[in-house]
Amino acid sequence: MATYRIGVLYGDGIGPEIVQSAVEVLDEAVRKTGLAKFDFVTLPMGWEAIRRHGDPMPQTTKDALKETHGWIMGPHDSVSYPPEFRDRRNPSGELRHCFDLYSNVRPARTIPGVPSVAGEADLVIFRENTEGFYSDRNMYTGSGEWHVSEDIVISSGVFTRKAITRIAHEAFRMARRRRKKVTVVHKANVIRLGSGLFLMVCREVAKEYPDVTVDDCHIDAVTVHLVRRMRDFDVMVTENMFGDILTDLAAELAGSLGMAPSINNNENQAMAQAVHGSAPDIAGKNVANPCGILFSAVMLLNWLADRYNDDSLAELARIMEQGVMKTLEDGVRTRDIGGTATTTAFTKAVRQRIAGA
Ligand code: ATP
Repeated sequence: MATYRIGVLYGDGIGPEIVQSAVEVLDEAVRKTGLAKFDFVTLPMGWEAIRRHGDPMPQTTKDALKETHGWIMGPHDSVSYPPEFRDRRNPSGELRHCFDLYSNVRPARTIPGVPSVAGEADLVIFRENTEGFYSDRNMYTGSGEWHVSEDIVISSGVFTRKAITRIAHEAFRMARRRRKKVTVVHKANVIRLGSGLFLMVCREVAKEYPDVTVDDCHIDAVTVHLVRRMRDFDVMVTENMFGDILTDLAAELAGSLGMAPSINNNENQAMAQAVHGSAPDIAGKNVANPCGILFSAVMLLNWLADRYNDDSLAELARIMEQGVMKTLEDGVRTRDIGGTATTTAFTKAVRQRIAGA
């Protein structure tokens, strides 16, 4: 049986609470099934790394991640870091950039037992992760922004055929496994060249997938359509900043930001990361919803199953996901989704359901 080396980065705010939950639930699934072996490698990131190494994303952490099969990343509270770190890429931006994790996959689906504003919906958003309107991703050195005078700043947006092509292929491949529909989200009517290239290249890639229907929509219009008829969408593909904003909206419409998972991946590495941030307002109170990171860990297992052609990991993912779903169906919920369960109580309930399955 193969052993998978998994990095664990607890991060800031609610990070230690939710990441611990993911490690415990994964451990429980392994204990119950004996389907795989994991070697968890804990690595410093965020405030802990600043205290120990003087850097929120130390080189030692990046070097150690190179030796893993994938990792679980907690959130970071980068706005609270000392001033010398605030002009740099934040820890997850740094890892996405360093490892060229170009694809950020963010599903938003309604789950039985979790109230949703959107009605029933099951959508996956592919967010291009390496360029676009996130200016700090666009430079080899520097921030991608220029202070022209005291009152004038220029921020860069970068769009390349290479990056658009690879994220478009990811989206179309996923659509083939689902309801075979891709919506390209852009603003080509105003940002004619950058967003125009995004739309044009996605349309070109679409020709290689004649079995998949493609349409496109302006970013502002899509927010309205999501609120009114989220159920009609299957797969969306968009640039970095549009994707960040759209996925928070989709997550909240589907239930709660605390429920929303993601992975960031290239062909060889994947990073599981909940969509939400470090939620400093509730940190340390044992009330955070761990579902976002739990479902992200499920996505990581499924990605590893595909990458290493290992069906036992897909089965482990199914067992873990079912454990979380059953817990929610049984009415065990954290505060953000209308319940009273603490983070640790929710985690325990999931473990009990996995153990008893
Ligand atoms: P970032 O910029 O890092 O994405 P943010 O400032 O946009 O972070 P979050 O930290 O995601 O915001 O928090 C937004 C709101 O959602 C806060 O009120 C927070 O308490 C709540 N929230 C976020 N994650 C969770 C969670 N896992 N469980 C419960 N509430 C959460």
